[in-house]
Amino acid sequence: MATDTLRLYQYLLATRTEGPGLRAAVWVQGCPNHCRGCMTPETWSFTDGYDMEATALAEEILATPGLEGVTFAGGEPFAQAAALAALAAPLRAAGLGVITFTGFTLAALKARKDSATEALLAATDLLIDGPYIEALACTDKPWVGSSNQQYHHLTDRYRESVAAYEKKKNKLEIRIFPDGRILANGMLPEEALRAVKNLKSATLLCNDAV
Ligand code: SF4
Repeated sequence: MATDTLRLYQYLLATRTEGPGLRAAVWVQGCPNHCRGCMTPETWSFTDGYDMEATALAEEILATPGLEGVTFAGGEPFAQAAALAALAAPLRAAGLGVITFTGFTLAALKARKDSATEALLAATDLLIDGPYIEALACTDKPWVGSSNQQYHHLTDRYRESVAAYEKKKNKLEIRIFPDGRILANGMLPEEALRAVKNLKSATLLCNDAV
């Protein structure tokens, strides 16, 4: 696969549940972490999903009015670091902020010492890291699924907004399409998320932390 070809599970051009403000959100397909209790094991396979060129997705995101930024989740974003860095470059050049979730710790990513990982870290304003640990599940930290996961402000862009969001509750968005498909994204307690997921025709889009 070319380095600017993304393998995607899903994307949304405008959501308010995946970080501060109105954001595009991109869930990549493929995750090697296999966290116990992961809400989206359907994102684990590296052969499911579909291909999309980073330039094509960047064009769609840049044509969406009113966005503050973009959120990369999964699946595992750092399994596709080069393609996501290629996607992030024109978005950052246009002034959008970048939040990236990962099931790896920042220390493990830094220890890789590979250029694609470094490029995606350099393109990220806020990194939310660490695997989902079922025993540490929580819903009182904005956008994260278990309390081990940490916010790493790689730039100052989201420092104030994360502090402000810590006083707010997590949200869930549910979209119902004319053909009956139901798309849910955001955060709720695990039991409620599983109930939503069990709705007929429902697709659940969690960030990488769940
Ligand atoms: S919680 Fe995230 S990192 Fe863990 S297995 Fe699921 S998609 Fe992968």
